[in-house]
Amino acid sequence: MLRKILVLTIAITCMPAAQAAPTYIFPVANCEVNYARAHHDYAATDILAKAGCRFVAPINGVVDEVNRTDLWSGKTNLGIDRGGLYVSIIGNDGVRYYGSHLRSIPASIQPGVEVKAGQLLGAIGSTGSARGTSPHLHFGISWPTPADTWWVRRGEVLPWKYLDAWKKGKDLSPAKAVAVLKEKVGEIPPVPKK
Ligand SMILES: [Zn+2]
Repeated sequence: MLRKILVLTIAITCMPAAQAAPTYIFPVANCEVNYARAHHDYAATDILAKAGCRFVAPINGVVDEVNRTDLWSGKTNLGIDRGGLYVSIIGNDGVRYYGSHLRSIPASIQPGVEVKAGQLLGAIGSTGSARGTSPHLHFGISWPTPADTWWVRRGEVLPWKYLDAWKKGKDLSPAKAVAVLKEKVGEIPPVPKK
């Protein structure tokens, strides 16, 4: 009996963790993507994909901010307008994930709504300052801040290494890197010139 229990215990302990659903998933579903490891002026990743491709929640969480109106103008190029149509969520890991230049956003995606990893947040497009450029998802990783803190929301920690991991089905969390940077620069750093 004891032997049986022991064998069972070992079997359970040794079960591969890979059987559990991953916490993180790549934020563009069912589409070919391309992204560079650099971004102009600040930390973010532009994920090139066809217009209409699905921007999905990279983790379970709650919708933070949603903008359904493209107010961007090349004349003013205001930082707050550059994202065009966008959605941000606060993941269960405490990290904020932001996707912008969207073509459309489902009506059900509203601030405070719970979302699951892989749930549709919007369709990729070229709104905001991406007008006239190749459709892409501007993807930003930051920490939660009060509404309209666009210079934090657009991205603070470089996403590409997390994107690489999630694409391979590996769970790599940016939570630590986000916490370290927030501690260093403060919750609301000064508004940058660019
Ligand atoms: Zn961008």
